[in-house]
Amino acid sequence: MKRRDLLTVLALTPLGAVAACDGATGGGDKPSIVVTTNILGDVVTQVVGDQVSVTTLMAPNADPHSFGVSAKQTLTMRDAALLVTNGLGLEEGLASNIESAKRDGVTLLNAGEQFTPIEYSSDDASGPDPHFWTDPTRMIDVVNGLEGALGKVPGIDASALAASATAYRDKLAAADERMSTRFSTIPEDKRALVTNHHVFGYLAARYGFRLIGAVIPGGSTLAAPSASDLEELSTAVREAGVGAIFADTSHSDQLITALKESTGQDIQVVALYTESLSAPDGDAPTYLDMLSVNTDRITAALTA
Ligand SMILES: [Zn+2]
Repeated sequence: MKRRDLLTVLALTPLGAVAACDGATGGGDKPSIVVTTNILGDVVTQVVGDQVSVTTLMAPNADPHSFGVSAKQTLTMRDAALLVTNGLGLEEGLASNIESAKRDGVTLLNAGEQFTPIEYSSDDASGPDPHFWTDPTRMIDVVNGLEGALGKVPGIDASALAASATAYRDKLAAADERMSTRFSTIPEDKRALVTNHHVFGYLAARYGFRLIGAVIPGGSTLAAPSASDLEELSTAVREAGVGAIFADTSHSDQLITALKESTGQDIQVVALYTESLSAPDGDAPTYLDMLSVNTDRITAALTA
């Protein structure tokens, strides 16, 4: 009811009318929603369906920390009825484009402001951790914020939006339950994660994993470890007695393979979709697929 009133007010104001026009791009008269990462691009599409035209800036299998945009994409950002970002410092390659879209008056929905972020818990990384999507209950918080923001976009039917947002939240809650059930089959002393970079803080906090360490220091993917960093982690891996370490499908596995070799032990290197969806014909074309594939691979690797 409240949303409908707001929609009416917005539709009657000149500003609302302008946004409705400006927001329309290739999708006829549908409002244009622009999303930075491909994970959030899928979530927005699931929540709002074909009521809007969704443009995702980040390509499949790309690195969210470093991807940039074309001149054409910059214009699409500026003309968006709503720009959805991950925030918390994730999109380092896009920071200035997001700032200028904000200065141009584009309405922003920052996913990282929809919940209380956790801090990195490693010696080599500090500050808020942007990788919230590894815990689907955090994504439920984001869907709540998204539903509110989309409800204010002129031209979106509020009751259809409420129905699809509710259906998607139910799927996220089911994914959380399945992850809990699957991870509980891993013996507690084996619930330990060694990764290419610091992506699993939220997953570890939600499902009771220990974070042994990550090869790339600093929380982003843009730094490189020193020889002594690698040696220190190698010792920690041997001491933890883990049977598997995890690579990111969107990065080179060179460093994680070097780590494996430096342990001198027979450890599996398992590739996960940690920060990017795959192409449509890959194993993780949607966020729910990503959660499911990662859960199965982590569970299989740590119970082997
Ligand atoms: Zn990352």
